[in-house]
Amino acid sequence: MREVLQRRVVVVGGGTAGWMTAAALSRFLTAGWLVTVVESDEIGTIGVGEATIPSIQAFNKALDIDEAEFVAATGGTYKLGIAFEGWGRPDDGYVHAFGLVGSALGVVPFHHYWLRGLELGISKPLGHYVLHTLAIAANRFAHLNPPANSPMPPMPYAFHFDASLYAKFLRGYAEKRGVVRQEGRIVGVERNGESGDIDAVVLANGTRVSGDLFVDCSGFRGLLIEQELEAGFEDWSEWLQCDRAIAVPCARVEPLVPLTRSIARKAGWQWRIPLQHRIGNGYVFNSDRISEDEAAATLLANLDGEAMAEPRTIRFKTGRRTRCWVRNVVAIGLSSGFIEPLESTSIHLIQTAITRLVDLLPAGEISDATRRDYNERAAFEMERIRDFIILHYHANQREGEPFWDGLRSMEVPEPLQHRIDLFRSTARVVPSFDELFDTRAWIHVMIGQNIIPHSYHPIADMLPEPRLREFLDGLERAHISEVARMPDHGAFVARFAPMKQELVTA
Ligand SMILES: Cc1cc2nc3c(=O)[nH]c(=O)nc-3n(C[C@H](O)[C@H](O)[C@H](O)COP(=O)(O)OP(=O)(O)OC[C@H]3O[C@@H](n4cnc5c(N)ncnc54)[C@H](O)[C@@H]3O)c2cc1C
Repeated sequence: MREVLQRRVVVVGGGTAGWMTAAALSRFLTAGWLVTVVESDEIGTIGVGEATIPSIQAFNKALDIDEAEFVAATGGTYKLGIAFEGWGRPDDGYVHAFGLVGSALGVVPFHHYWLRGLELGISKPLGHYVLHTLAIAANRFAHLNPPANSPMPPMPYAFHFDASLYAKFLRGYAEKRGVVRQEGRIVGVERNGESGDIDAVVLANGTRVSGDLFVDCSGFRGLLIEQELEAGFEDWSEWLQCDRAIAVPCARVEPLVPLTRSIARKAGWQWRIPLQHRIGNGYVFNSDRISEDEAAATLLANLDGEAMAEPRTIRFKTGRRTRCWVRNVVAIGLSSGFIEPLESTSIHLIQTAITRLVDLLPAGEISDATRRDYNERAAFEMERIRDFIILHYHANQREGEPFWDGLRSMEVPEPLQHRIDLFRSTARVVPSFDELFDTRAWIHVMIGQNIIPHSYHPIADMLPEPRLREFLDGLERAHISEVARMPDHGAFVARFAPMKQELVTA
């Protein structure tokens, strides 16, 4: 039997990334690993990041977190998709829903039949054939039980939650499993004279926290990965041009909707995220196109309820860390890069980074092959998500607005241009097997933003027209009756996982 060596992981930062990492490591690391989280109350966390995608369920399940307990502890609500308002033409709207687009019929995806119906004048807008979109329109939500042998949940969903309460919840989880929290501001870093690895971080009060592996969750500053190890940054702001956000919470209003709203504005977009105790709002914008004062005024004029705090500005730069694992430091969270919050992908990226880290955790010395594998996978993942986000901006028809005109005419990364061209000419979407956004996501956004293919698969012509009509009408009817059986989303949350009053924070 191999001797159990004592090895120390130091997680630098106690934001969402830090506590997700610490919680997961406390659950999955074998005996012999000690995990310490260093965080500074004085510096605080970024304090935004409230919308998720369905993959978070896998994270919570892997940690054996009870859903009702988690939703109640974080003021959580359910999310079935994102409503994009004004992203095509100013008066357009569509939902990027988490569920299936239509239903399987024959060998080609549903949207080919829908396109044929469109040509025949018998198809309604795509959302009429999407269970999630109809549930959103009716403000309903339920846990639908998957049929026996189904590999997929029939109604995937995600959550909105209070990010600071989520970090607190995970902190409780991690500390119960032996993670040690060290409060203090890091003011120095000690390197090993021979290897160049990091030996320890030094706090303002002189405490030295040493480790074998450091996970940099220090946020945008990238305290270890950039400030100390100079990993480099690939700037994506030529495509993802927003560089600031103004955030403000407001009072909750009825009804409690199971969706995030993303509303296109003059120089960016506004988010609206409903929680049990408030609504999170923000305007993400390009500071060359609109002043901070104007953005704040636009945001405050477009709140559903009364503002509960002063608006707060957050600056950011879109892009990715060139290498996320350098020497004995792995960057997770905002220290590893930031795409932008449009499709709520940051927490997902924290999750996949943790999975990669656990997968590649070194038994002894960290090899170059390990670092390389980690970095290549991280780059691939982020670039594919980047392209999906760029699509939203590029495929706009908001003519006469300088911010949007520029995005429409810009040259996009080649793999994205290829996807758009392929879809426009053949209605086909061929994502790589391991990228986050699958065919249905691309279809929702491309069709939602009026990229309507010139043709569809000829197999769709084999269905006689009356049968196609019957199929489309029947599908919509089935979805409507399924939705009618679901409870109101607000009533569901109030019954299943009501938030305790003592947790309520602005
Ligand atoms: C405008 C905006 C909206 C967003 N919306 C979403 C969303 O809807 N969904 C989503 O998934 N993601 C969203 N994100 C991203 C999300 O906020 C982050 O991915 C998430 O909060 C993780 O942040 P973090 O833990 O990496 O960094 P932070 O929250 O910044 O935490 C950094 C930690 O490091 C500590 N630290 C830093 N320096 C030191 C030091 N010298 N000494 C000691 N400790 C230190 C800090 O105290 C803190 O604990 C959004 C981001 C932005 C900017």
